Amino acid sequence: MNQTKPIRGRFAPSPSGRMHLGNLFAALLAWLDVRSLGGEMLLRMEDLDPDRCRPEYTLQLADDLRWLGLDWDLGWQADKPDFCQSSRTAYYEEAFHKLAREGLVYPCYCSRKELLAASAPHASDGARVYSGRCRSLSAREKAALEQSGRRPAWRVAVPEETIAFVDGNFGPQSELLSRDCGDFILRRSDGVYAYQLAVAEDDGRMGITRVVRGWDLLSSTPRQIWLMGKLGYEPPAYCHAPLLCSPDGRRLSKRDRDLDMGVLRQKTTPEQLTGLLAYTAGLIDRPEPVRPYDLVKAFSWEKVGTQDREPPEISWKKQ
Ligand code: GLU
Ligand code: ZN
Repeated sequence: MNQTKPIRGRFAPSPSGRMHLGNLFAALLAWLDVRSLGGEMLLRMEDLDPDRCRPEYTLQLADDLRWLGLDWDLGWQADKPDFCQSSRTAYYEEAFHKLAREGLVYPCYCSRKELLAASAPHASDGARVYSGRCRSLSAREKAALEQSGRRPAWRVAVPEETIAFVDGNFGPQSELLSRDCGDFILRRSDGVYAYQLAVAEDDGRMGITRVVRGWDLLSSTPRQIWLMGKLGYEPPAYCHAPLLCSPDGRRLSKRDRDLDMGVLRQKTTPEQLTGLLAYTAGLIDRPEPVRPYDLVKAFSWEKVGTQDREPPEISWKKQ
């Protein structure tokens, strides 16, 4: 059907702090994946959460990607804020209403406490599966809850449908939406659209054909594939990458300041850091300085595999 669709990957960082080594590792793999296929790269800033995201982090992120040599062909530029999710609300609203017109959306008035009581603790990502408690509220019950001043979140009613797909790195996956995921949130009670909706809409509208990201988002993938189908988009191919974990098994996070880009850029050159990351990924035999474009030819997911790694030791000084 879509033979002519260009191969297009994306960086989709959240500007909620400075990038760290783990973010960079995933970004390098996403970039290599698409460049090795001769595709184009798009940059989208996922700044939906107004409490956590800041414009100065956005600029810094773009600068840090460029510093390493990870370029992009489309999407965010300093003068193109329409590639920030915060300025794409109209699209999410449209998607939300499309689902609502199909009768798939309902308000959920549950408090945090009620949610704990009304959910089973075993979604595939360890989150709780919502029981659907508010799915069958009568008009009268809804009106009474409205009157009490509670502002609802909005959920989508998922069908008893199994979503199966083959991850380019983790292999065959499948999930029964109603059992493994449950009715999930599309819009928070404060009006902010949820990540799942925004990503499905953006990946669809932006013509993304390859999604590469850490495996912590593997369990979100069935939801996104299903949503994209409902919104009339063809889902991309997915390749989930291993993560960098500290020796105690914890994932690197933005709190690990010692490995954030501010520090890394003082300690290393882009080539040194790329070499170290490529070595950690299993793409080269020794951590020698190298540029991202030098790695394109030899890139393969077989070399990378699915095992999480410890972050490499950073001890070099800039020459
Ligand atoms: N914005 C998300 C993050 O930084 C990534 C979303 C995605 O790749 O789908 O964790
Ligand atoms: Zn509810």
